[in-house]
Amino acid sequence: MAYDRYGRKLHYLRISLTDHCNLRCIYCMPDDITFRPSAELMQDDEILRLVRLFVRAGFDKFRLTGGEPTVRANIVSLVREIAHTPGVHSLSMTSNGVLFARLAEELAEAGLKRVNFSLDTLNAEKFQRLTRRGKIDDVWAGIQAAERVGLTPIKINAVVVRGHNEQDVVELAALTLERPWQVRFIEMMPFGGATEFQQKQLVTAQEIKARIEQSLGPLEVLNGGQLDGEARVYRLERAVGTVGIIATVTQPFCASCTRARLTADGRLRLCLLREREVDLLTPLRAGASDDQLLQTILAALWEKPWGHGLAQGEIPLNRTMSEIGG
Ligand code: SAM
Repeated sequence: MAYDRYGRKLHYLRISLTDHCNLRCIYCMPDDITFRPSAELMQDDEILRLVRLFVRAGFDKFRLTGGEPTVRANIVSLVREIAHTPGVHSLSMTSNGVLFARLAEELAEAGLKRVNFSLDTLNAEKFQRLTRRGKIDDVWAGIQAAERVGLTPIKINAVVVRGHNEQDVVELAALTLERPWQVRFIEMMPFGGATEFQQKQLVTAQEIKARIEQSLGPLEVLNGGQLDGEARVYRLERAVGTVGIIATVTQPFCASCTRARLTADGRLRLCLLREREVDLLTPLRAGASDDQLLQTILAALWEKPWGHGLAQGEIPLNRTMSEIGG
């Protein structure tokens, strides 16, 4: 079992399969971003070896993200190999959904269990503006395909950006009246690249909740207000689905964090919002043994920071979100 020095049991790894993405969301990366050459990214066998080592360290829950995980070559066979690794109990993915209509069936058959889709608005023009190139119909087809093949429960993640989609939270939340989905609203976080914009255009969890309640009525808090992962979960009256609100910036949940991240270039990132990383790929390529790598992983996890420092003005600048894996 992996613990950090604050006694948190760490068992959830989010793996960025690539920093490449087929969208350019305005709050995530610049339009003219240069992606890393593939040789710098973890190769399939390297990812699989690290997954096995994290299982040995006590990890059982894995999420594939990016960048956009579905643009990675051989994504279906990689999913199959990870899903069939003994000790991997839960394998999910975070995706923008653009390519999902054609991949959902194969991914489900390969062993993927669930998907979180990112969708910040239901308005086609706004979607285009926010993503700089996406077509909302592709995403919608992807979500429906995922539901059809049983990659459920479906979760929809929306980052709320002032001046772009703060009004859209109502229409998005209303999806839960008729669909058994969890629609989750995420406070925008500041990273390298677009820090000023990300801070100025933040819409707080409190405002998001107030906007939804003003139009759709009271949100009943579920689970006695306990967090479900990172989200506080609510239900609208007569809704079949739920609304989640993720308040990373204004109400951090660091005390209950059980996760670590593997960046696309093979660095172990201990906290999304702290720059510190431990390089695993270089020693792996230099011939380190499994035991040596495991020791490096356990030592790094032990040093997981207590929490982020946004309230103190400490902003991580060394990476965009797409490299770390959101
Ligand atoms: N391409 C996939 C997707 O769109 O879901 C996976 C990677 S994306 C980086 C993962 C999530 O991070 C998305 O829901 C995205 O909206 C979110 N994200 C990106 N930049 C963010 C920021 N500055 N603050 C909060 N969430 C952000």
